[in-house]
Amino acid sequence: MASQEIETLTAALARLPGLGPRSARRAVLWLIKRRESSLVQLLEALDAVRETLVECSVCGNVDTRDPCGICADPRRDQRSLCVVEEVADLWALDRAHLFTGRYHVLGGRLSALDGVRPEDLAIDSLLARIEEGGIDEILLAMNATLEGQTTAHYIAEKLENRPVRITQLAHGLPVGGELDYLDEGTLAQAIRARRPVT
Ligand SMILES: [Zn+2]
Repeated sequence: MASQEIETLTAALARLPGLGPRSARRAVLWLIKRRESSLVQLLEALDAVRETLVECSVCGNVDTRDPCGICADPRRDQRSLCVVEEVADLWALDRAHLFTGRYHVLGGRLSALDGVRPEDLAIDSLLARIEEGGIDEILLAMNATLEGQTTAHYIAEKLENRPVRITQLAHGLPVGGELDYLDEGTLAQAIRARRPVT
């Protein structure tokens, strides 16, 4: 039976996404064994995050400054705006280094099931950014889920009469994916988004 302090730490870690009680116990033991190296390092990193992280008031990204590094970067294309559901999606897309514009984080997706309505998402602030002008393209980078696509449709409708080009991520075959292993939804999307051979 572990002490109350260790139980509390284990319970806190077990709440992290991707970790359950078993993984949390292993992580705690691992940290206890490396008290001076890893545990201290983790404490300092957590402390630094608590002290400095802010939500960007322009795009909703999480960074150590507001506006965030992406919004403040003059080399970024000001005319392209990529709309994503969550900060994690922004980070994933930006890691790919292919999109050179800026982002807008909605903070979720429309969901009748979870009771998420348009006013719960950062849609008004998106429309306000477009209203300010200077944006030519809106890339709707929602997840390829029913709720993600519903959200994309809703935003596309809202933007119907504005002078912006609306684009969407192509959904299809993952790089290195074998047809045999793909689910039907992915295959159907790939067929629908087929393009001429170049
Ligand atoms: Zn930002």
